[in-house]
Amino acid sequence: MTTEATIIDQCHRLAKAVAPELGPFYIFGSVPPDVPRPEHSTGWANARQTCPLLKRFLLERGEWRGPAAQIVLDLERSDLEPLALFCHELAHCLPSATVADVETSDRAIQIATGWQELAARVSYETLTEFESHGDCTPWAGDHGDRFLRVLLHVVDRAYRAGFSFPLCEIAAGARYGLSAISAYSRALGDEPERLRNLTFAEIETVPAPEEFRALWTADMARYLGSSI
Ligand SMILES: [Zn+2]
Repeated sequence: MTTEATIIDQCHRLAKAVAPELGPFYIFGSVPPDVPRPEHSTGWANARQTCPLLKRFLLERGEWRGPAAQIVLDLERSDLEPLALFCHELAHCLPSATVADVETSDRAIQIATGWQELAARVSYETLTEFESHGDCTPWAGDHGDRFLRVLLHVVDRAYRAGFSFPLCEIAAGARYGLSAISAYSRALGDEPERLRNLTFAEIETVPAPEEFRALWTADMARYLGSSI
């Protein structure tokens, strides 16, 4: 197998180990042709709605199996450990949800291409502002406390399943105006171990540990206070 195929195989095995409830999903180890590459990011996930450009690519290759989450990893350009990057994108897809389908008419492709070209050119901060309708905190593009908690559970389960990769730079930290991911990991404490048999939907019904919530509140207050 090629390196890319090996990594994709590992990603599928990792996802099955940490979130068996997720079911089938698509992984791209490179950005397909005709899909504009974001300058600010080397990975993204379409967790709730199918991307027409990726759907068309899959249809043309006879690999379309119906709507499901799509994870794109730009492995050639990423300087992150591939499995760490994948865990970040996988966390965006949890708890698992129904994925809406789309049409791939010429018009739908044209609109999707226009949006993707725009998203590819602007900075992460600008994109966040667009997507969050004016709330331009760096974590607003679905990188807040809920995401961090899911991600830390994903990583803990991956480590338990025998996968090995560094945690650094995977989320939180200066880029998102937050404390380091290691601080969130400490604040979450032994929760990943205690809740290791729950689905991600079930985890969301359990309040996060007090220390975790306190760190998030303090980070928000510090960021919002310093940006006024
Ligand atoms: Zn993300």
